[in-house]
Amino acid sequence: MKFTDFNLRQSIQDAIQEAGFTEPSPVQKEAIPLVLEGHDMIAQAQTGTGKTAAFGLPIMSMMNADGSVEGLVIVPTRELAMQVSDELYRFGKLSNLKTATVYGGTAYAKQIERIGQASIVVATPGRLQDLLMSKKIKINPKFVVLDEADEMLDMGFLDEIKNIFTFLSKDRQTLMFSATMPPAIRKLAEEILHEPKTVSITKSESTNTSITQLYYVVEEKERDDALVRLIDFKNPNKCIIFCRMKKEVDRLVAHLTAQGFKVSGLHGDMEQKQREVTIRAFKQGGIDIFVATDVAARGLDVNDVTHVFNYHIPFDSESYVHRIGRTGRGGKTGEAITLVTPGELRTIKRIEKDVGTTMATQVIPTRQEVQNAKEDELIAKIANTQITDSAINLVKTLQHDLDIVTIAHLLASMIQSENAVTGKDKIGLSLDQIASAIDKMRNERSGGKGKPRARHRSGGGHDRGRRNDHDNRKRNDQDRSKGSHTNQERKGDGRSKRNSGKGSFKS
Ligand code: ADP
Ligand code: MG
Repeated sequence: MKFTDFNLRQSIQDAIQEAGFTEPSPVQKEAIPLVLEGHDMIAQAQTGTGKTAAFGLPIMSMMNADGSVEGLVIVPTRELAMQVSDELYRFGKLSNLKTATVYGGTAYAKQIERIGQASIVVATPGRLQDLLMSKKIKINPKFVVLDEADEMLDMGFLDEIKNIFTFLSKDRQTLMFSATMPPAIRKLAEEILHEPKTVSITKSESTNTSITQLYYVVEEKERDDALVRLIDFKNPNKCIIFCRMKKEVDRLVAHLTAQGFKVSGLHGDMEQKQREVTIRAFKQGGIDIFVATDVAARGLDVNDVTHVFNYHIPFDSESYVHRIGRTGRGGKTGEAITLVTPGELRTIKRIEKDVGTTMATQVIPTRQEVQNAKEDELIAKIANTQITDSAINLVKTLQHDLDIVTIAHLLASMIQSENAVTGKDKIGLSLDQIASAIDKMRNERSGGKGKPRARHRSGGGHDRGRRNDHDNRKRNDQDRSKGSHTNQERKGDGRSKRNSGKGSFKS
């Protein structure tokens, strides 16, 4: 499918070509025709899938460039406002569609003037509400877009958004875009959308609900202890441990072998023959644990991998999805376990958002807890063991010198010492410590001004410190001269980070 297959106006088609886009992304394929038909829409797709063009191209194609504000795009942050308007500028310039960017922290007068000249306003909720309530602007857009709706709700903008909609004409086409679809988003959609069409583009593997996703927060130096403790506790049938570097693979293989595990490394520069032998051993149970790099494990298809461990969290969400997809295969359930330091919590949040999933956090069991868990196993195992003739003879021999209770104690001690859980008692952060590490992260995000939340959500979620226009004001002071602007003026100011790679599209 090509962009020319859509019923887009010629000047927009020309702009697409100039942008270097050749093939529409999945969300664009589905969304563009629906928007052109005039439907309201709710669309879910991950970050970087081209959502801006998915709404921008069709609405701009339907605009008249008559000097009034025809389109309103509401986005959560100033940074996004600039990114989105950069992108829209590229699409609209050949159609004479100007864009005004509106956010808190800058003087009103200029913004109001620019809104007066623009066909599209890209705005953050706080400042937009201010302008509407103080009657400084009056707009009547035919197209209203809520971009990154989940993020806006996470940031606490629900009231502002509802209020903004009281100022907008009912006779409008409303589009909502979101990376995730929590219930609060669906509820908002019911209120502001009219008979919406739904578009949902999710990666098939990432929506594999048979994989339980957990993360544990540890200090950097605790990774090895945490890993061993968790393997002891989870008692995986087969597991894969992912590392970032080959060097780490080798070190972990040595470490785990010394702990008595049946383990082998798998990395990229293994000979094909060697690789096949190792994989066969893993499949047949001669090896229980694979330690692998991302590259080495690509496409690895072993059916009964019960656990995937991320010794280090991967850099990008794609790798995360690939890694955890090694478990929960063939209709089985699996667990994906990620170790992070407090400083890596933000990566967890980003991946959750990109992948549209939540990971629950847990505390690493103490030595005693694992010991207790193992005791139950041991008791069951003892009760189920077949008594052999040679065992009977052995006990008879022991009875020459020892009474039967002492013999039992000795045998039990022997078994226990063979199954002993090693390492320090407590590893990693407690739930309270994790909660405050998450609060700290949110505060850092909002420039140190965010209020810690009263309510902790340990099961993941995408909370972030509310970064409102007030906070932006503080950060934007040095930026004031740039202020708000039409994109016509900013042409070629090189601000756009993401758009520089001409037509480079990650699908
Ligand atoms: P999202 O809003 O889904 O996170 P964006 O709309 O910001 O994604 O798009 C991400 C990047 O992909 C942008 O740099 C954009 O220019 C580029 N892009 C979007 N659609 C296409 C396409 N069809 N072909 C090539 N690049 C594209
Ligand atoms: Mg976007």
